[in-house]
Amino acid sequence: MDNKAMYQLTYGLFVLTSCQDGRDSGCIINTAGQVTADPNRISIAVNKANFTHDLVKASGKFNISILSEDASFDTFKHFGFQSGRTVDKFDGYASCKRSKNGLYYVTEGTNAYISAAVQQSIDLGSHTLFIAAVEDMEVLSHISSATYGYYQKHIKPSPEKSQANGKPQWRCTVCGYIYEGEELPADFICPLCKHPASDFEKL
Ligand code: FE
Repeated sequence: MDNKAMYQLTYGLFVLTSCQDGRDSGCIINTAGQVTADPNRISIAVNKANFTHDLVKASGKFNISILSEDASFDTFKHFGFQSGRTVDKFDGYASCKRSKNGLYYVTEGTNAYISAAVQQSIDLGSHTLFIAAVEDMEVLSHISSATYGYYQKHIKPSPEKSQANGKPQWRCTVCGYIYEGEELPADFICPLCKHPASDFEKL
């Protein structure tokens, strides 16, 4: 069995946003897809380590902002490389608006958003699979959606570029996140894709 066959699956990239008790947050996911057309439903699988997971679970509603090829690496860093448990990601963040359901969606580097209400939650251990009814959506631009492959090739900085300051670096082979330090802690978890230290390679 060649586990690399999994790499041949393609994925889109999305900012998942939700809000509960006045607390907004968002994270990057690559697991949104339409599951039925009539009624129109989408599914998302969200790692429980994400603070936004808890907001979706508690509120039963979320927005998906679909990232497009003009999305900057800063957007990925902002929503992917820090945790909503310690940072308010919408404090001073200008590139967003609220949709009819009261949740934020991201207006820069995105080509559409979809608002959805959770109908079923399936506990998958590390993740929860949410199946949700589409309640509203808008197209924001006609720039192509950013696939995971496009992100790897064109958005994330190349290792040569990011190796400027001389510190040892470890790269997540799954998403490209760079950790800087003498040693990568054995219990380190990638802040972007949540894969373990064993998925990192030393540069
Ligand atoms: Fe990663």
